[in-house]
Amino acid sequence: MLELQHTIASTPFTINGRDYHPPARPIVAICVDGCADEYLNTAIAHGRMPNVVKMSVQGYRGVVRGALPSFTNVNNCAIVTGLPPRQTGIGGNYIIDPQSGDEVMTNSSRFLKPDTILAAAERTGRKVAMVTAKDKLRELLAKGLETGISFSAEKANQVTAEVNHIADVESLAGPTPAIYSGEASVYVLRAGVALIEQGLADFLYLSTTDYMQHRYAPDAPEAIDFYAALDEQIGRLLALDAVVALTADHGMNAKCDTDGQPNVVYLETALNEQFGGGCRVICPITDPYVAHHGALGSAVTVYLPTNLDVNDVAAWIRDLPGVTEVHDKASAMSQLELPGDHVGDLFVLAARHAVIGRTPEHHDLSQLHGSLRSHGGRYEELVPLIVSEPLSDTYRAVAAGDPRNFDLFAFACNAARTAQAES
Ligand SMILES: [Zn+2]
Repeated sequence: MLELQHTIASTPFTINGRDYHPPARPIVAICVDGCADEYLNTAIAHGRMPNVVKMSVQGYRGVVRGALPSFTNVNNCAIVTGLPPRQTGIGGNYIIDPQSGDEVMTNSSRFLKPDTILAAAERTGRKVAMVTAKDKLRELLAKGLETGISFSAEKANQVTAEVNHIADVESLAGPTPAIYSGEASVYVLRAGVALIEQGLADFLYLSTTDYMQHRYAPDAPEAIDFYAALDEQIGRLLALDAVVALTADHGMNAKCDTDGQPNVVYLETALNEQFGGGCRVICPITDPYVAHHGALGSAVTVYLPTNLDVNDVAAWIRDLPGVTEVHDKASAMSQLELPGDHVGDLFVLAARHAVIGRTPEHHDLSQLHGSLRSHGGRYEELVPLIVSEPLSDTYRAVAAGDPRNFDLFAFACNAARTAQAES
């Protein structure tokens, strides 16, 4: 362990207006996809997360606010840059490309505007590694990495030295898992442990997938076993003297009526019936992994034909059951911190138990594994933050205010250092 410490660079750096002072210890920032706080509470109540309990007691556990809409790409981009979506340029997984007018996925780094904390750390001599579960996130978040390792669990068996800066992952972390599995996420953490053990990385971002949370409620035995498996890997990271900071991109809620049927507002259908044709609804949750959610989430953006009055339509949408917030473009930018070029005329958020879709034909609910659990709105905005180190007075004050999940690297790099300095 001591030998490892001697080789770790601890040069401070500044990126996107923030200073980072990583100590000469492995830094591991973890985003547990879809980790609503109640998943941790339930697994802890069952005695299955001893390492997270240890982190919470010796370090810090609290709740932070994610970025809206509470989707994966939006929040992962915010976390790796330390910036809200308005500055990352990523306001959804799926957008109308302002340049081409086409509907596109945002899983390309050309959409990510700022430099990342990972690329900045690499320039100071840190050995950077980024491991994601879904391959869609890898290329997006690997922006600017010159030598840093990046790969996904999904395509662990397809890595190349040229693209991923590592030639063999399976001998480190085991056989490539199925993407629709809990193992796809556990693999991400196990790979992180192996990279530190082998001296290949000392500054890591590990980002899992929310298949298990979409499929299982917090008290399902499968969910509890899954969290126990994550906890085991977290214990191995702590044993390597890593500073571990963990948050989530968003929470997760059941989106069903009391009879268990999906509670969907088909907004494009409703608008075109009420106001005539030409209204277009874009579901920014849309991604290639349809078994998770059938492209149904709790936030959508609406493009209206020019003959309609935006305020009239907003007022009408606001009265629909299942809708909780309607923002015009200016309000979406100021109140939801969204990039204006990814937002239509209106941005709509749904209730805790509701999702908003386009038309019934657009969403294939037969592809769902299990009942509908999803995210995207205000009710999935609050997520856990757990840090392995005691917080300095400065970071205690940050945590007592309005901390964000995209403060993750600041907590990981700075909270421990100043705690030492102050003691
Ligand atoms: Zn997610």
